[in-house]
Amino acid sequence: MSSELSAQHAVYVGSFDPVTLGHRDIIRRGAKLFQRLTVGIGINPDKKPLFSPEERLKILREIVAPLKNVDIGSFEGLAVNYVKQCGAAVMLRGMRTLTDIEAEFTMTLANRALEPTIETVFLMASEKYSHISSTLIKQIAEMGADDTAEQLKEFLPPEMIQPVLAKYRSS
Ligand code: ADP
Repeated sequence: MSSELSAQHAVYVGSFDPVTLGHRDIIRRGAKLFQRLTVGIGINPDKKPLFSPEERLKILREIVAPLKNVDIGSFEGLAVNYVKQCGAAVMLRGMRTLTDIEAEFTMTLANRALEPTIETVFLMASEKYSHISSTLIKQIAEMGADDTAEQLKEFLPPEMIQPVLAKYRSS
């Protein structure tokens, strides 16, 4: 017995470690396209993240609070399985560069082989955010100059700035 997956429901999967302005932009745009958007935080038990899944869940909830059709969840294992579990027919991803396209293309083909009923939809990064990545944020925060908080405003939602700074101050 197969339950019906909704094409009006998309799941935006990623690590979100930390959540950037680029991620927030995809969330806002995705929320306009789909009736319901779930942000799914992928947990990889083999990797040591900067933020625990609980921390990411809490901050993402604050960030999406104004968006009434967005909810947050987390998962371990295959993203397609999580999307299916959510009852969604669409996996949403963002796309920044040619390098992203290459990696996403392979992943999308693998996901389609695993779960043909789920379509992956890509939103192209907005030009003002296309250079932003979680890795870049970590590098900037690690350098830790006096005006880092000010600099991070260019890359992070306001809710994410102090938590990122705190990680590097306490280490
Ligand atoms: P993952 O480890 O799954 O790539 P990320 O948190 O790095 O997780 O990214 C989640 C998704 O958001 C990916 O599809 C990625 O391409 C997209 N993304 C990341 N940064 C941006 C950005 N600045 N603009 C648009 N999309 C982005």
